[in-house]
Amino acid sequence: MNQDNKNINKPKDVKQSQKSNTIPPRKKLTINASGFQKKLSSLAVNNLLEGESDYEKLPSLSKVKRAREKQKTKYKPNLTSSSKIVREVDIPIKITVQELASRMSEKTGDVVKALMKSGIMATANQYIDGDTAELIVTDLGHTPKREEAISLKDTISNYQKSNKSSIKKRPPIVTVMGHVDHGKTSLLDALRDSNVTAKESGGITQHIGAYQVKHKESLITFLDTPGHAAFSNIRSRGANLTDIVVLVVAANDSVKPQTIEAISHAKTAKVPIILAINKIDLSDVNPDKVRNDLLSHEVVVESFKGDVLETEISALKKINLDKLLDNIILQLDILNLDVEYNKLAEAIVVESKIETGRGPVATIIINNGVLSEGDHFTCGQAFGKVKALMNENGERIKIATPGMPVEVLGFDSIPFAGDTLYAMPNEDAAKEISEKVKEQKKLESMDSVKKSSLEEMMSNISKGDIKKLPIIVKADVQGSLEAIVSSLEKVGNKEVTINVVHSAIGAINESDISLASSAQGVVIGFNIRAIPQARTIAKRDKVDIRYYSIIYELVDDMTKLLSGLLTPETKEEIIGHAEVRDTFNSSKLGTIAGCYVTNGFVSNIAKIRLVREGKIIHEGEVGSLKRFKDDVKEVKENYECGISFKDYSDILVKDEIEFYVNKEIKKEL
Ligand code: GDP
Ligand code: MG
Repeated sequence: MNQDNKNINKPKDVKQSQKSNTIPPRKKLTINASGFQKKLSSLAVNNLLEGESDYEKLPSLSKVKRAREKQKTKYKPNLTSSSKIVREVDIPIKITVQELASRMSEKTGDVVKALMKSGIMATANQYIDGDTAELIVTDLGHTPKREEAISLKDTISNYQKSNKSSIKKRPPIVTVMGHVDHGKTSLLDALRDSNVTAKESGGITQHIGAYQVKHKESLITFLDTPGHAAFSNIRSRGANLTDIVVLVVAANDSVKPQTIEAISHAKTAKVPIILAINKIDLSDVNPDKVRNDLLSHEVVVESFKGDVLETEISALKKINLDKLLDNIILQLDILNLDVEYNKLAEAIVVESKIETGRGPVATIIINNGVLSEGDHFTCGQAFGKVKALMNENGERIKIATPGMPVEVLGFDSIPFAGDTLYAMPNEDAAKEISEKVKEQKKLESMDSVKKSSLEEMMSNISKGDIKKLPIIVKADVQGSLEAIVSSLEKVGNKEVTINVVHSAIGAINESDISLASSAQGVVIGFNIRAIPQARTIAKRDKVDIRYYSIIYELVDDMTKLLSGLLTPETKEEIIGHAEVRDTFNSSKLGTIAGCYVTNGFVSNIAKIRLVREGKIIHEGEVGSLKRFKDDVKEVKENYECGISFKDYSDILVKDEIEFYVNKEIKKEL
């Protein structure tokens, strides 16, 4: 098979590319072809079938290009024919090992070996991602050519011809962040209340998650979705919807955990912070404490000779709101907000919902270009035609310009927050792009064999691609946290250092994971676990969480990581979790926890950790594991069981039990 592929690889590719332009639906073809296959075993049919793998079906434009390029290279005389033939290999976002081998005309076994060398165990039929494929192609001496990401962008910009005329600054987009109860909502409301445009149009008639304020002839767009998760969710979808972060800190409360979280988010997104010290109407407040406390988080305000603009405000009494807006305007000089005012729109979805009678509705903010009623568009996996545009006051408008938040009707299906909407010149173009995105999503959702983020990081460190390793540290108590952070900051050498992007006390939450995901860093839990939602996202986004209970080990591991030496002989693998739903006392076994296995499975030989409100309160071993009255070895997800621990009895309802095993890591080739 490999031998065969070797001979016909190139012409086959060309054939396929041309073919897919003329032969329409894939399904039909597959069915027909597999019908034939039983009768014919000829090469041609086999190849045709191979060509039917998913990514090959991404439609036309890129294919035509590829076919043309292939044809060009095909007729170049190959003068080094005695030595290895270097091929240009198209790499989609995911590809099976076998297909990759065939595209390179290499033996599947050789590709598997190359993968093993870089620490990935994959079989012929498993998918690997584009990044990994690219490495392997280079390793084997061929030239990788990334297919999809480029072609989708190219296709979009081909349709969205820019004429570089009418370039103007768009209004800045501002997000308000800060600790709970420090006054985010009050500030957003106060700014909207004193907003001239809202007053003129008779008050606020509709709430759409964003609004504009006019200040000294400049428009400012406020995102009315306070919440750090919203901020980084949109960011993790690759969209940057914020130009400035207004950090609200209550003068009577000063810096609190979510204040620090907000600073970390803003810094990771490289978005400038403007400080609003709120609640100065209260009598016993000390705004300077806020300024001082912020120093230790590298937020240095202007009055302390730093570059962070600051205002003391009261959202409640509407004091100094103008000064805050002045500061936002001042900040504009350092931002590049130039956009085109006469090109097809590019916009980002802030929120979306389905409304009875109106269908899918999305609030978007225009980033660039203009969106008009009647425009065709594509938006993530959705597409459509603008049926109606509504401004923040619920008034119907014909055209939306950059910076404007508008509600759009006319989607075929519901888009997601963070998706980018592109206006298209016609319906076919809109459909074509959304089809492509759908294909990509399908491939992405397929499990591919990938290195963990940590392994990825190590290989980047050893290649010298990483200069700073971003780390998020969560710990159980302040003392440990400080000790860890200060030791970590000392780790490192000339080439690479550790950058603690966020550190706080408490369980690892979703915000930590999305921060790690956007910073491409590792999360460390010290005597602390991740909450279930965070675990789910970490798994999805392939964020590494490392747990430690001894500072020395933590620092040692990170030191090894930086020197590219971290090859743990054993790696902890969490096999499942159970939740304590009830407890009983037994004279023989002590406390028995009536449990429900929430994920994975639990085993009587695994090690356990007992977690209460995110904190580890006991580590040890299982004493007994029972289903009804019987001792069992394992209990699977969604089943109930009774568990007791060896020499430990303090178990409470709602505690979580984590089951893990230490796996030996075999040294690879
Ligand atoms: P958020 O959780 O950050 O959105 O905070 P809210 O805007 O909901 O405000 C929390 C509480 O602080 C509410 O009771 C507000 O009335 C109060 N508050 C907000 N701003 C001010 C202020 O400037 N002065 C005073 N005294 N109270 C305020
Ligand atoms: Mg609020």
